[in-house]
Amino acid sequence: MPSLVGLTTAEIAQAALAGRDDARWRAKQIAHWIYRKGATDFSAMLDLPAALRHELAGRFRVQPLAVADHRVSRDGTQKLLVHSGDGEVFEAVVFPTRERVSCCLSSQVGCPMGCRFCATGLGGYDRDLTAGEIVAEYLALQRLVDRRISHVVFMGMGEPLLNYGNVLRAIRLLHDEVGLSYRHITVSTVGILPGMVRLAEEGLPIHLALSLHSPFDEIRGKLMPVNQKWKVSEVLSALRRYVAATGRKATVEYLLLDGITDTPEQAEELARLVRGMPCVVNLIPFNHVDTEQGFARPKREAVREFRRRLEAAGVNVTQRVERGHDIAAACGQLAGRHTGRLARRRFRSELPVSPS
Ligand code: SAH
Ligand code: SF4
Repeated sequence: MPSLVGLTTAEIAQAALAGRDDARWRAKQIAHWIYRKGATDFSAMLDLPAALRHELAGRFRVQPLAVADHRVSRDGTQKLLVHSGDGEVFEAVVFPTRERVSCCLSSQVGCPMGCRFCATGLGGYDRDLTAGEIVAEYLALQRLVDRRISHVVFMGMGEPLLNYGNVLRAIRLLHDEVGLSYRHITVSTVGILPGMVRLAEEGLPIHLALSLHSPFDEIRGKLMPVNQKWKVSEVLSALRRYVAATGRKATVEYLLLDGITDTPEQAEELARLVRGMPCVVNLIPFNHVDTEQGFARPKREAVREFRRRLEAAGVNVTQRVERGHDIAAACGQLAGRHTGRLARRRFRSELPVSPS
């Protein structure tokens, strides 16, 4: 059965209420229930006539996701492992802090980009998520917490700019139907050049983050196969154009791998490359993932020195606050024991099916 999450109010009127005089009004009520109140069942929509609720329940699901696993970290982070009935599992994480509640959404099941340090990348790619599945991740997380989730980052499984149409549609739904600010939505990309150019042309004030991880092509190329296609200089100039087009400050994400990307030469070169660009460099110490290369977390002293060099050159720097380590919810760790297509496939047979 098709699901209503993923449709705009106007589309709900068309798809579910065609021919009714009150279609527009009823569609508004239904959209309010699903996007603002997090209803998962038509029976909750008490201001709709019972006959209509009954009729809709025979033709539609409210939302597509079932929860396969739910973990709660000691620090309050919560992670959901979800699927749409096809056994393709993916993860979404919510991070409550004192100031705000943020969440991290997946855009694909797995990822085809193959970055060497990333659990998702090492696991391969299964499929793109639909806009409805992406918005349903947000709604499922919102049901777990009392406070409103105001910030969304596309830093879960997958490369959002490879699933451009669905991600953009999800972002518009989060803005138009859920009521989030575009400014509080961050798309993180490995550096898909055509996607970055296209996103700049949308004219939306979405925040863009570029995963750079080294200013040198030789090093970046060994860590991130995408660099064979689009070089450091190309993705940085695309980021510069994005900043110029949207007037937004961008983020340059920088993964610190012990002895590989955390050297003083790279700090100096990075500072040179981003000088004059309205951006923040976000330092991310490596989160442990078992790889053949045996990557390690950077030493505390190396992180401090890296940061010091950037700041001395006038670059704005932040450091990723790491959360959810005990439930493998940190960046790059998503997919957990379900990493890899084979593991995901095996896992399918054991899936419990419960509404999220
Ligand atoms: N595909 C997009 C978004 C998802 S990954 C991208 O690559 O930007 C989100 C962030 O997590 C990226 O900056 C990515 O490089 C980083 N990441 C991946 N593996 C990691 C790891 N093991 N430790 C820390 N960060 C990691
Ligand atoms: Fe894909 Fe991002 Fe992981 Fe690279 S870091 S494999 S692009 S999810």
